[in-house]
Amino acid sequence: MTAQTTLKDRFGRQIEYLRLSVTDQCDLRCSYCIPKGFKDFQQPKEWLNFDEIERIIRAFGALGTRRIRITGGEPLVRHNLAELAGRLSQLAGIEDLSLSTNATRLAKQAAGLQDAGISRINVSLDTLKHDRFKTLTGGKLSKVLEGLMTAKSVGFKPIKINTVALKGINDDEFEDMVEFCIEHDFTLRFIETMPMGSTGRDATDHYLNLQTVKAKLAKRFDLVPGVMPGGGPARYVQVAGTDLRIGFITPISQHFCDTCNRVRLSVDGTLYMCLGQDEQYPLRELLRTGCSDEELQQHIRNAIQLKPERHEFESNPQKIVRFMSKTGG
Ligand code: SAM
Repeated sequence: MTAQTTLKDRFGRQIEYLRLSVTDQCDLRCSYCIPKGFKDFQQPKEWLNFDEIERIIRAFGALGTRRIRITGGEPLVRHNLAELAGRLSQLAGIEDLSLSTNATRLAKQAAGLQDAGISRINVSLDTLKHDRFKTLTGGKLSKVLEGLMTAKSVGFKPIKINTVALKGINDDEFEDMVEFCIEHDFTLRFIETMPMGSTGRDATDHYLNLQTVKAKLAKRFDLVPGVMPGGGPARYVQVAGTDLRIGFITPISQHFCDTCNRVRLSVDGTLYMCLGQDEQYPLRELLRTGCSDEELQQHIRNAIQLKPERHEFESNPQKIVRFMSKTGG
């Protein structure tokens, strides 16, 4: 790759990963993410259409981005997602197309998404208790489990389970999550809750430092450190005698901003440089007023120069008023 086909920010970090939010809507209302009764979603005319998304991803591919993760909101509520995935997976330079989902609609869509070129799936799952799932998300756990098992049966591997660790809400279940993931050959990742929007800030009352979670798990399981250095922020251990890898994603207790390699594109075409900062660069109107491919690439280069050094979740937790679902989690 030549110097011209890479994106580097002011701090020397190479940006080779884009999270693409295809909707800010979701069929669940996780208490730490979208408030109950929230209605202020983007309107269809504000959404990037598939041609616009493809154009932006093509530009990122030309600039050295190799990995795209489709997310949201809940990406499976966007109609014809498999069609979009099929188009993106064909683009030059894109080597890895993955998906983050809550899996409520995955049973119907898993096979089509795999055919379209989605290679890996992450599923959010904070509890294995049906009542608790209903309270925490407003949805049905049975749908998620059905989606997960379908994804497994059509051959997605790895399937990663993402669990936000919440004191007093699901911290009595972490060992059960480990057993569940051993049984089904899933990878498990715990995530620290972040103060994003009013919901995220309220959830800081339930914040758990994952060092304590790991220490507690180590009493029951033999955790072998240092496995699976990935392209992302998770630090992994393996449960000895099993195939299970457990990742710990610690944006608060041990931030990983110095190795951040990603930016996020929201459904309205805004590039967000950091989950925990406001720097952003609107691309949609540039597309709709006829900018050329070369100009689009230059705008993306300009945007990357805005990427801040790090978030301020601890020092300035009031700062980010966007919910995670708006930026694209
Ligand atoms: N709907 C998809 C899903 O469930 O994976 C993708 C979007 S969702 C916003 C992405 C992830 O963000 C989920 O794992 C969710 O638990 C996490 N999330 C949302 N708000 C959060 C917060 N305040 N702190 C930490 N994680 C959060």
